Amino acid sequence: MSLYAELHRHLGGSVVPRILWRYFKRNRPDLAKPFADYPQFEEFYCRPRESLAEYLELHTLVESVQTRETLPYFIYRLIRGAYVFENLAYMEMRYTPYLRTSDQLSQTERIDQTAEIVEIVGQASQVKEYPIVTSQILCMHARLPYEVNRAIVEIAAQMPEYVCGIDLAGGDDLYCDRMDEFVDLYAYARSLNLKTTCHLYETEGGAHPELLPYLMRIGHGIQIPLQHPELLPAVAQRRQCLEICPTTYLKTGTLQSIQQLQVVFDRCFDAGVDVAICTDNAGLHNVRLPFEYETLLTQDVISFDQLRACQENAFRHAFAWPLNQGPAAILNDVLNWAPAALKPTRATVAT
Ligand SMILES: [Zn+2]
Repeated sequence: MSLYAELHRHLGGSVVPRILWRYFKRNRPDLAKPFADYPQFEEFYCRPRESLAEYLELHTLVESVQTRETLPYFIYRLIRGAYVFENLAYMEMRYTPYLRTSDQLSQTERIDQTAEIVEIVGQASQVKEYPIVTSQILCMHARLPYEVNRAIVEIAAQMPEYVCGIDLAGGDDLYCDRMDEFVDLYAYARSLNLKTTCHLYETEGGAHPELLPYLMRIGHGIQIPLQHPELLPAVAQRRQCLEICPTTYLKTGTLQSIQQLQVVFDRCFDAGVDVAICTDNAGLHNVRLPFEYETLLTQDVISFDQLRACQENAFRHAFAWPLNQGPAAILNDVLNWAPAALKPTRATVAT
């Protein structure tokens, strides 16, 4: 069995439609009511959107039910599915914890509750029967005020047992007016030794070179090879890894065909820029990580060698994978060095 690493998965978009539907039916009939049956809900939940903005609206539906009380329910099912169906050995989950706090509270009280949410998510991710190495990336949000985003950075730095890095989300075309703020927040994060990624160069409006020097990885970044290939040598030199999430670009209308990713991969490989393949919102898309791999192969977007390189990149660029090699290397070591008694013999195979 291959074991994989997932670097870009949103907690909000990680709930598969069947799990969400069951939750609505049992606990929030008001949210299930507009739909005649499950197929109608699935069609609504998974259908492509006109734009990234419209697509991100769906996150608010899930965020509204991912509360302090319900997060363990959803996370248990996320970990179980990732272990059983996706062969994940490692997963970074990202979300904006402030948006899971009670909106009845003041901003200060919500900031206080944010650390509690991080703790709840961290505890719920440790599922004995489905062992996956997990960590959290806390997302600052383009629509949240500076004070809240700064508090998110500080909480990330204060909770290394649960958090491995920070991100900025909410639509990369919204950063412009507040670019000084975001540069300041990333510089602050780096001063606290936090690892960094950022939703950037996802759409054509998301070209913000000011943020690039502060990042270890780039969330999406597909517009760099597509529209700004002159930036690739600097990205390679900074050893920044692109987190490419193929299904997303079709669901947001950013790309019309998966074939358009071929030039993205080819230009990155040619320039020596590492790429990891990720799901972004596996639940919302109803597409799991191995299926992302298989689609890229069967559609001739990448070769097997490129796929293997991307899978290894995911472990190499993981913020919290505790080893300096991926699971395949560990298994090879076991096969090479295990005492003969542990190796299967012809006789044991025959029985
Ligand atoms: Zn994302």
